[in-house]
Amino acid sequence: MDYKIFVNNPWQENTIVLYDETGEAAVVDCGCFSKEEEVRLQEFLQSENLRPVLLLNTHLHPDHVFGNRWMKDVYGLSTCAAREDDFLLEHAVEFAAMLGLKGVTPPPAAGESIRHGDVVRFGASEMQVIAVGGHSPGGLCFYSERDKLLLSGDVLFAGSVGRSDFPGGNGEELLAGIRERLFVLPEEVKVIPGHGPLTTIGEEKRHNPFFS
Ligand SMILES: [Zn+2]
Repeated sequence: MDYKIFVNNPWQENTIVLYDETGEAAVVDCGCFSKEEEVRLQEFLQSENLRPVLLLNTHLHPDHVFGNRWMKDVYGLSTCAAREDDFLLEHAVEFAAMLGLKGVTPPPAAGESIRHGDVVRFGASEMQVIAVGGHSPGGLCFYSERDKLLLSGDVLFAGSVGRSDFPGGNGEELLAGIRERLFVLPEEVKVIPGHGPLTTIGEEKRHNPFFS
């Protein structure tokens, strides 16, 4: 499995395209906000001859769903996410306004709901769904055992963790979830967070200040 990261929208969110040798792709957290960001993603897909067949969300905060309307219109995909986060989608416009971004287009409703223990597939690839609440109630991480790759959403960052002061957040649940469900993965697993640089499970176990 290959990946390509696009940093999108005023919150510098990581939109991740996963793809493999079959030419099928999954888009995770499509945060495209401007026309330019949509065009950049579309041109990448076209230049690599990729066909997006799956849209996933680690969670449904506004900065992770800005591009969902566009994904639906252009590729016919509705996002797969945890049901517990649906309320965030319903309040996305107010939530974005609260964070200083007025006049955003309401995102479309989520499609299939996914939960801890599920496996999501595209092409010849699959990812395990690992739920970690606390940043949002329905926070999900996506893990490829074969590729030793984890998409951690806003749960775990390089040297930090997600904030827990948004609606439905819980700091203790967040830290416990990271310890029990992410830090049990092999140390060499590469982590792509929802914002900021890449890291590894080993690096975060040793140096993340929230766990020392
Ligand atoms: Zn978030």
